[in-house]
Amino acid sequence: MVSRTIPVDPFDLVIFGGTGDLARRKILPSLYRRHVGGQMPAEARIIGAARGEMTDEDFRAFTREAIEEFLPETKRDTVTLDEFLAKLRYVRVDAVGQDGWSDLRDLVRPGVIRAFYFSVAPSLFGALAERLHEHGIADAESRIVVEKPFGKNLKTARDLNAVLAEHFSEQQIYRIDHYLGKETVQNLMAVRFANILFEPLWKTEYIDHVQITVAETVGVNGRGAYYDKSGAMRDMVQNHMMQLLCLIAMEPPYHFDPDAVRDEKLKVIRALEPVAPEDIVRGQYRAGGGRPGYLEDAENPESRTESYIALKVGIANWRWKGTPFYLRTGKRLKARTSEIAITFRQPPHSIFDHPEGWRENVLVIRLQPNEGMNMMVMIKEPGPGGMRLAQVPLDMSFAEALGEEGADIPDAYERLIMDVIRGNQTLFMRGDEVEAAWAWADPIIEGWEARGDRPHSYEPGTSGPEDALMLLHRDGRRWREIRE
Ligand code: NAD
Repeated sequence: MVSRTIPVDPFDLVIFGGTGDLARRKILPSLYRRHVGGQMPAEARIIGAARGEMTDEDFRAFTREAIEEFLPETKRDTVTLDEFLAKLRYVRVDAVGQDGWSDLRDLVRPGVIRAFYFSVAPSLFGALAERLHEHGIADAESRIVVEKPFGKNLKTARDLNAVLAEHFSEQQIYRIDHYLGKETVQNLMAVRFANILFEPLWKTEYIDHVQITVAETVGVNGRGAYYDKSGAMRDMVQNHMMQLLCLIAMEPPYHFDPDAVRDEKLKVIRALEPVAPEDIVRGQYRAGGGRPGYLEDAENPESRTESYIALKVGIANWRWKGTPFYLRTGKRLKARTSEIAITFRQPPHSIFDHPEGWRENVLVIRLQPNEGMNMMVMIKEPGPGGMRLAQVPLDMSFAEALGEEGADIPDAYERLIMDVIRGNQTLFMRGDEVEAAWAWADPIIEGWEARGDRPHSYEPGTSGPEDALMLLHRDGRRWREIRE
């Protein structure tokens, strides 16, 4: 396969919070990978901006360490690393004060794309937008990138949108949901809209149900106090899983264009039905295997925050009425895996004498590990013994199918940051989408808070609370096994 890397235009990328955890783990290593991939123009500059005192050299040393820690040796080399580090600058700024802003203004260059990555606490977004404006650092072409969490309910999301809108238009705001940058997630759109095969079947008449699973083996490790204010619904469902659901359920957009795609996603969110209390199961992991339970991790023995949630979601439109979407996500589960499974309905009539081997067709889209797709189809069991049916996977692992290029799937952040520079908002959430997702999630959360529901405790290393099994059993269905 021929590599088709298209270099982007010269840019200055300022990373507010350039010395933070996210910059270290994701943003800086991803930028380096794009340099190695040949996408970074010679004139590109990356400016770390944070509160700490640091020289350019200190910031380069910090970045070198981050890259060495988070990228395997096979993905880095001394020559390209030195070239990349030469692009880095550092400026000390205080988002809430006046320190450093004139230095930053002197540093950014006229005539190149300016992008500002807000990798800081959301409480600082407003101050950063204000300072950029006040000091004339951002212009009408500049872009800002904002991280999750985007609010913790509809009101706070609206407030955040309003604060940013004071100085930036919607076309300048890139709300990151890194799930949208995953190769397989984008592939979902290719599979749906570049093939005639699936689209005619993509509706309630042919699809029995959809399962979306995001399972983690880790607990809230060291972030307990922060996580306890959020929980699985806010941390995973309202954003990442909602985006996946939208990509499965949306109508074909008229063009692969940012607003065309986002208009269709918004319609799905608006069509979501309220979720009844009996269609929600929340859980908290217990202590086990020498590791503390959620309540200890959260440092709050009274906590009612969920580290696991499963819910049955309905979409009230012509395409989907009658096809439930089952969503589940949790921590300390038996395996780390993210997948979407689309289960088709039974054929109307069986012509075979031994239909016992029959299983539904399932299209499985794996996000991690081993990004790829699997289509479960029925065949004749090979050999003698008459016409017996067996289910086999038509497996397409991208790494195998696409050779070297497939094995080198870029990290979501690589793709998304380059999209910011290219000015392509397709894979970013629009303000009205985020607000609509909160408008759906708020009453669900308020409901369990008002009822005082306690999450069920579950054994670590399992599939979650027993009650979550019932959510599907009572509909005559089963969850797919959680496994890597
Ligand atoms: P962090 O606490 O590790 O880093 C915060 C950064 O902000 C530091 O560089 C610090 O110097 C800077 N900062 C703090 N106050 C400042 C001020 N007044 N002026 C200028 N700079 C200031 O945080 P993080 O984990 O890197 O997270 C950054 C953002 O990304 C947050 O919004 C977080 O919710 C989000 N996020 C983080 C992760 C992650 O894995 N760490 C994942 C998703 C989203």
